Amino acid sequence: MAVQLDFRFPTPPAPGETLEVAEGVLWLRLPLPFRLDHVNVYLIEDGAGFALLDTGIDDETTRQIWDGLIAGALKGRPLTRILSSHCHPDHIGLAGWLCDRLGLELHATQTEYLDALNIRLDAGALNSEPYRSFYLNHGLDEARIEILLNRGLHYLRMVSHLPRTFNRMMAEETLEIGGRTFEVLTGGGHSAEQAMLYCREGGFILCADQAMAKISPNISVEAIDPNGDPLGAYLRSLRQLKQELPPETLALPGHNLPFVGLGVRIDELIAHHQARCEAILKALQVGPSSALDLVPVVFGRSIDDPHQMSFAFGETLAHVNYLARRKELAIRAGKDGAWTISQPV
Ligand SMILES: [Zn+2]
Repeated sequence: MAVQLDFRFPTPPAPGETLEVAEGVLWLRLPLPFRLDHVNVYLIEDGAGFALLDTGIDDETTRQIWDGLIAGALKGRPLTRILSSHCHPDHIGLAGWLCDRLGLELHATQTEYLDALNIRLDAGALNSEPYRSFYLNHGLDEARIEILLNRGLHYLRMVSHLPRTFNRMMAEETLEIGGRTFEVLTGGGHSAEQAMLYCREGGFILCADQAMAKISPNISVEAIDPNGDPLGAYLRSLRQLKQELPPETLALPGHNLPFVGLGVRIDELIAHHQARCEAILKALQVGPSSALDLVPVVFGRSIDDPHQMSFAFGETLAHVNYLARRKELAIRAGKDGAWTISQPV
């Protein structure tokens, strides 16, 4: 995998240090206390200072890194505004803290801003009906359901408050940063309206978590949108990126290394999801299944860690819903409310 990608910058900068990866764009890597142990954020030259795309999570380590950068490592050049690619904690975690502290404005897409706000307004809301039954009826046990239902509270521990206003970034609009034009692209799948910034004249795209060199972003059905088709949205976004961007475009992603070869990587990601769909259809030839029982089919192994399981379950359901929309399988409720997934009739 990924052998055809061209890694121009194989060594990431140390935490708190920056590396210029395109003219006027500095790559900064922030630590994360998870199995995925880092997030990439980018400083984009903006007049005398830098616009910042994404912030890291809100924890003591990341705050200290920002303290150090603001106090000196940016060589007196101020941050001018905060851009947020999407509402996940590793990307928006310190946006409010930085905005307030430095008197800056936030730029985000409307859905990402409102999704972040929604969790903040009622973090415990997911921990109720009909969300609990949704997971129960798809075969999950209580322990795993608790993790899924408490994600709102967990989220708030990693995200500072939000500014009360934001500047809306929208697909097909542009953003002027440091005298250059950045085209706003948005894509669903990993989150509902993730923003990517394409600098045509600079030959690079800040593509956040939509396309990364090694990992495949989590594409999950959420209980709030139980019949949603995030995988369909994701595949549409990948095809759009491949179609619209020249093959030599430098991809500056939210995790892993920057790379050239977006088209190659997009083909791999599409094939990866197609293989998962085929594995589900093959398993259903043997007999009907619950979504839970399809998790090892999709991942090729059993998943014991309950946190991993919550992601894996959402991702499995994304493939199930995708296939159901296309009438390649059927989801039926039994008398006890439990859902059964089977071949279409
Ligand atoms: Zn991320």
